[in-house]
Amino acid sequence: MTSTDSLALSAAATSNGRDLLTTGTFGVINPATGEVFAQAPSVTPDQLDDVFDAAQNAYLSWRIDDEYRRDALRRAADVIESRTAELAPILTFEQGKPLADSTLEFNLAATWLRYYADLDVPRQIIRDDAQGFEEVVRRPLGVVSAITPWNVPIALAMWKIAPALRAGNTIVVKPSPYTPLATLALANILRGTFPDGVLNVVTGPDPLGEAMVSHPIPRKVSFTGSTSVGRKVALGAADDLKRVTLELGGNDPAIILGDVDVDAIAPSLFRSAFANNGQICLAVKRVYAHESIQPRLVEALSEIARSVKVDEGTVDGAVLGPINNKPQYERVKDLVADAVSNGARATAGGKPIDRDGYFHQPTILDQVHDGMRIVDEEQFGPALPIISFRDEADAIVRANRSEYGLTASVWSGDADHAAQLAPQIEAGQVSINMHGGGVRPHLPFGGHKHSGVGVENGPWGLHGFTELQVIAGPSRQ
Ligand code: NAD
Repeated sequence: MTSTDSLALSAAATSNGRDLLTTGTFGVINPATGEVFAQAPSVTPDQLDDVFDAAQNAYLSWRIDDEYRRDALRRAADVIESRTAELAPILTFEQGKPLADSTLEFNLAATWLRYYADLDVPRQIIRDDAQGFEEVVRRPLGVVSAITPWNVPIALAMWKIAPALRAGNTIVVKPSPYTPLATLALANILRGTFPDGVLNVVTGPDPLGEAMVSHPIPRKVSFTGSTSVGRKVALGAADDLKRVTLELGGNDPAIILGDVDVDAIAPSLFRSAFANNGQICLAVKRVYAHESIQPRLVEALSEIARSVKVDEGTVDGAVLGPINNKPQYERVKDLVADAVSNGARATAGGKPIDRDGYFHQPTILDQVHDGMRIVDEEQFGPALPIISFRDEADAIVRANRSEYGLTASVWSGDADHAAQLAPQIEAGQVSINMHGGGVRPHLPFGGHKHSGVGVENGPWGLHGFTELQVIAGPSRQ
């Protein structure tokens, strides 16, 4: 299959189960070349009226039949699995990630659909006796406005689509303008699987995102992206008191105690920081390593960084692709240059790769400290600072000294001791001897502090797409 065959799938926005006619388009850049390789439809804020109307109409019948919805989610999972070979290259061309990682995203999408299809959402009878009848039910909210980022566009869209639809809502999804095509293609292949208007996807440059928040029809905005935009979403949604879930940025610390086997943990720690080029909200973004093992850890991570194959995502054996977009590429370059000019030492990498596109060497930074931008800010790229600490309690204070609180990890030869430290860290998830170990369909995922509001996944994620309703009356006995 050629890239053009697969991209033909993604030509139009999906509204009400069919193409939404748009006059404008915008270019989509392949980050491996830096060149525009496809056009995506530019849906104007005005056209959102039709899309949200369609979603509103579809909601009236979609919310009724729970078993029908479960079946539709299962059918959607089957369709995605049967078309993943066509879909994955689209994601790789626009996002940059290796084909295996794109394939994984679609596999995860199917997993999430099946999880929510199988999840029971019991009605809760509180009382049904001689005194009276009381029941608590979860009602869907109506139409959901979903906004996603460019780093993991399909899996993160499905964290919204699967629970929202299962709960009986309909949805309009707006992917990032950097990665519109795979989500358009996803909606395209699912036409007919869901009734018209249930799953709609629109694309366009911002201010389309703002319009997704301010539109009067949706009753909920489910947003994944940066903390700065998340704040704007919260403000925009406040006007008509839309519900919000915000999955935002992170500056996730890994604390490595002095009793670890450095060589044993280094490959896993490296993957936790550099998978998807570090462009994962929960990637390890700063390492606090005990001074007794810090030099050896720097060496071990640097060896791995130097050996990793960085190439176009379509090339066999590529482990890391390019950074997704020019602003992000420039930001990583700036943060690394800033660190080096302030005394850091790049023990691996340290520079962009001299070729077209947005390639950057996987970079390990030694002689770094709190107060450097690379430590204090979210780099969201392939550069990792390894900070030395002496005292465990101090490492925890420093890990917590951040506006963010998404995920964290503690690594130790003594897992019980690590587990005792874990609750002291201000984060939505703390893993022991691994990082991001709790990202599963059945576990809640969400940020503390400025990393988010609300959670996704598990029954809790579904609850976020519902409101409680009490039904009460005299005894029915
Ligand atoms: P971003 O905030 O720039 O954009 C996210 C989405 O919001 C895009 O679709 C964008 O078009 C849209 N948008 C932009 N302005 C808007 C506005 N005013 N109103 C509504 N929508 C608007 O983020 P990004 O650069 O695409 O993604 C990277 C960020 O996302 C990082 O900070 C990362 O940590 C975060 N992220 C968080 C999670 C999580 O689950 N917590 C997951 C992935 C990424």
